[in-house]
Amino acid sequence: MSLTLSFLGAAGTVTGSKYLVENGSDRIFIDCGLFQGYKALRLRNWAQLAVDPRSIKAVVLTYAHLDHSGYLPLLAKNGFRGPIFCSEATLELCGILLPDSGHLQEKDAEYANRHGFSKHKPALPLYTEDDAQRVLKQFEPIHFDEPRGLPGGGIIVLRRMGHILGAASVDLAWEGRRLVFSGDMGRYGDDLMVDPVAVDGADYLVVESTYGDRLHERSDPGEALADVVVRTIHRGGTVLIPAFAVGRAQSVLFHLERLKSAGRLPALLPIFLDSPMAIDASEIFCRNPLDHRLSPQQCHAFASGVRYVRDSEDSKTLTASQMAKVIISASGMATGGRILHHLKHYGPDSRNTILFTGYQAGGTRGAAIVAGAQSVKIHGAYVPIRAEVRNLEMLSAHADRGEILRWLKGFERPPKMTFVTHGEPAASDALRHRVEEELHWAATVPDHGEKVELT
Ligand SMILES: [Zn+2]
Repeated sequence: MSLTLSFLGAAGTVTGSKYLVENGSDRIFIDCGLFQGYKALRLRNWAQLAVDPRSIKAVVLTYAHLDHSGYLPLLAKNGFRGPIFCSEATLELCGILLPDSGHLQEKDAEYANRHGFSKHKPALPLYTEDDAQRVLKQFEPIHFDEPRGLPGGGIIVLRRMGHILGAASVDLAWEGRRLVFSGDMGRYGDDLMVDPVAVDGADYLVVESTYGDRLHERSDPGEALADVVVRTIHRGGTVLIPAFAVGRAQSVLFHLERLKSAGRLPALLPIFLDSPMAIDASEIFCRNPLDHRLSPQQCHAFASGVRYVRDSEDSKTLTASQMAKVIISASGMATGGRILHHLKHYGPDSRNTILFTGYQAGGTRGAAIVAGAQSVKIHGAYVPIRAEVRNLEMLSAHADRGEILRWLKGFERPPKMTFVTHGEPAASDALRHRVEEELHWAATVPDHGEKVELT
């Protein structure tokens, strides 16, 4: 039998992660994410998949964010009936993320129809909240570091990758070959998350390259955060932080609490986590102690120093309030969710700050704002951006180039081929170059849709 690997996403982009491994008629997916950002990418979510979803035997997820999991409800809607393997925390997070994604898509379609700004009549959601609830029944959580057999004969092992709760690399042994997928890599020495676990080898390696061309600033993220917050509240402004309720939100909360107890920030400065899933998310964090470095006390302490805003009416009240404050709200790249209402309100006022804490994929509102856009389109209208804009990438959950290379150096022998994916073209190519020059490994940046024979 011949084993093949096809790149159906995350090639030339950081989104849409979807790798197809085929052994004759046995097919599995590693990740099954949504494309986000540029319209040309988003349209791929609507295009017919290269293979019949009914022919997929299983899906393995590296982690929960939508660019890795968000296509699953559609895959199942179109006939996929197999198991979805992932870590326990990934299942818990998908349990709130996927229904929320379906809900937002229904809302967006409804909004577009009501205000008539969609070119499609009527505008339809890609999938619904019900579709998302249904696919959750196909999830089978597995333990880290324990081999698990797949339908079709492959065996997988998940290893911790830091990044966010539940994030894993996938080690797949099939037909005498060993394939390793890095998933999204976390940082070494992060204040919250554990270090990426080393892998000793692979015949074929698929590695992410979000920051393949960059090194993060080494300055203290807490200090950088304090500067921005103090400056903004002295102007009487609000600090608006786009971030998903699980992931960087906890890291930002952790730093803010630490700054408050050190007297660097006013003890009474209100901090809001505005997300319908905020409470669930913090509970999931406290329930998965092996995925992060915090003690149960620390975990509950930072989770209690924040005011949770669940209800959408309360969220609107918060938008209207004049007091100086910090608001954390999803989504992290301002592609949807409650952050949009806050951006409409706070973006035009120069007293406020919009503070990003991680990678902004090309074509997203986040990328446009960070690049200095004078205005962004929200719900069909242009909103001027006069607020101060900062991106503290040292708060990013993604490994930088040095950290990716450090993980690769854990390999005891070079893979036959290293496929560099999950990056904008310049970042992927820069990492490919480093892998060839520094490690003397064979490396390539695959094209979207490319299929390779794994000999
Ligand atoms: Zn990703």
